[in-house]
Amino acid sequence: MKELDVRGIGMTSQRTRDRLIVKLREMGIKNEEVLRVMRYIPRHLFVDEALASRSYENSSLPIGHAQTISQPYIVAKMTELLLHESVPEKVLEVGTGSGYQAAVLGGLVRELHTVERITPLHKGARDLLYQLGYRNVRTHLADGSWGWEQSAPYDAIMVTAAPEQVPDALKQQLAIGGRLVIPVGGDDGKQMLQLIRRLSEDEFVVENKEAVVFVPLLDEIN
Ligand code: SAM
Repeated sequence: MKELDVRGIGMTSQRTRDRLIVKLREMGIKNEEVLRVMRYIPRHLFVDEALASRSYENSSLPIGHAQTISQPYIVAKMTELLLHESVPEKVLEVGTGSGYQAAVLGGLVRELHTVERITPLHKGARDLLYQLGYRNVRTHLADGSWGWEQSAPYDAIMVTAAPEQVPDALKQQLAIGGRLVIPVGGDDGKQMLQLIRRLSEDEFVVENKEAVVFVPLLDEIN
């Protein structure tokens, strides 16, 4: 991947990125592949210039349109849950947002499809991911609660906005043996990060992982 450092953060960003990786390890992230990819992705390019100096803190940040780039720990945790034991080949992300999570997944898997419903966020992420050299990431403007049927089935699906219930389309677009990582619950701060594994055509195993806070999964295009 070609690194763009157009805002001149230069050496400082590599040092602050290294500190973030130390923090993620302390918080229990163990997957070395996930940590390796997060160490080289320039997260400061995925936020507004005014927030670039805070981009290697372990916090979510606003990206406009009432949306956020997720906290690095959550990005790492969800990616680790998706990767467990082997790297999935074809993956769907719902909720492109800034494109940062897509960059992390794009650095690990063969083919990533990512769906966003807000036009400016979709376009911004599409252009940045292209500039950064990702050619295995396909960005789509659509309501991701219907998944992205054209390229299904997926070995793994990650949803980065919270529905009250898991959309059936996402379960159906998961390959047998595949893994779905999704925050589930209302916007009352009581969402649960779930790992759902598809064992057969109609058998799914659900594991509750940890309490999380996400923006809601909405359904109309904006
Ligand atoms: N993964 C993102 C990143 O790395 O910046 C963070 C995502 S942000 C927490 C959630 C995103 O999901 C927002 O950009 C929001 O517009 C999007 N979203 C919400 N409902 C959606 C839907 N039905 N289809 C597609 N995207 C949706």
